[in-house]
Amino acid sequence: MKPAPFAYHRPASLEEALALLERYGPDGRILAGGQSLIPALNMRLATPAALIDINRVPGLDGISLEREGLVIGALARHETVETSSLVARHAPLISQAMPHVGHRAIRARGTVGGSVALADPAAELPACLIALDAIIRVARSGIQREIPAVKYFRGIYTTDLAQGEIVTAVVVPPIRLPWRGHFDELARRHGDYALVGLAAHCRVEDGAVKEARLAFCGVGATPVRALHTELALSAAQPGINASVEACRALDADLDPPGDVHASPALRRHLARVLLARTLAEIVA
Ligand SMILES: Cc1cc2nc3c(=O)[nH]c(=O)nc-3n(C[C@H](O)[C@H](O)[C@H](O)COP(=O)(O)OP(=O)(O)OC[C@H]3O[C@@H](n4cnc5c(N)ncnc54)[C@H](O)[C@@H]3O)c2cc1C
Repeated sequence: MKPAPFAYHRPASLEEALALLERYGPDGRILAGGQSLIPALNMRLATPAALIDINRVPGLDGISLEREGLVIGALARHETVETSSLVARHAPLISQAMPHVGHRAIRARGTVGGSVALADPAAELPACLIALDAIIRVARSGIQREIPAVKYFRGIYTTDLAQGEIVTAVVVPPIRLPWRGHFDELARRHGDYALVGLAAHCRVEDGAVKEARLAFCGVGATPVRALHTELALSAAQPGINASVEACRALDADLDPPGDVHASPALRRHLARVLLARTLAEIVA
């Protein structure tokens, strides 16, 4: 199918993009990498009156180390993030997650801001941002605000982003040793969305996880933080198999949906498998 007719704007600055967004209100849509929006237009699942293409807006695609942490611009492509030495050094969890996002061609165009704005519950990046306690930076005409990732993802394809706001960057706070990250997922084929994915950010001392932030994707309407499991890990006594205790606790954290790809029981099983593997990997 072809998309419904729409006006096309290619603003040259963030201010211009925000003004256009304000002018069109709910009838205007930001176009970033287009990997999710263009198929939706072609299938007429979305019929906006205007597309506001931000690909030429300067200053949105950088990756830099700043006082508040690693700042990844909204227009940074998945592939750029995947190969960035700054990301590998200061947010290795994100570097590990990126190769799981679709296929190379999709990663060459898809953007960090697009992923965060879309908020697909099976997407890898939102789970990483929650595990890393990151911040989402957004702008609206004359106003900027920062939203903690834990509060930003509200429901299936639903976020805290208000009408007229554009995601401008994500900020990953500095990671101190001995915190380590590990991302893994299980999907039917490489490049598919995850059946279950796990972003783990853990403090490891004396060969054991002492503290953990665990965020699963693909098991709920948003990335799901496994708080009971985190508690079980930090409370584990020496000599106890912490991984077994953590996998038991996981049942209290997850209530995954069933669909044509996997039943709730299969997703629970896969989540336990991922957790056990991830914990073994992270202390190794
Ligand atoms: C075959 C296929 C497989 C895929 N597999 C995966 C996968 O495994 N994991 C995964 O995470 N993703 C996957 N994706 C999606 C891909 O990562 C997209 O790039 C991403 O979801 C959206 O990014 P985009 O830049 O393409 O956004 P677009 O498609 O341009 O926009 C998506 C939505 O976000 C809005 N938007 C975009 N940027 C901003 C911004 N800065 N501020 C406010 N709103 C904005 C748009 O208006 C639109 O509503 C897949 C896509 C395809 C086609």
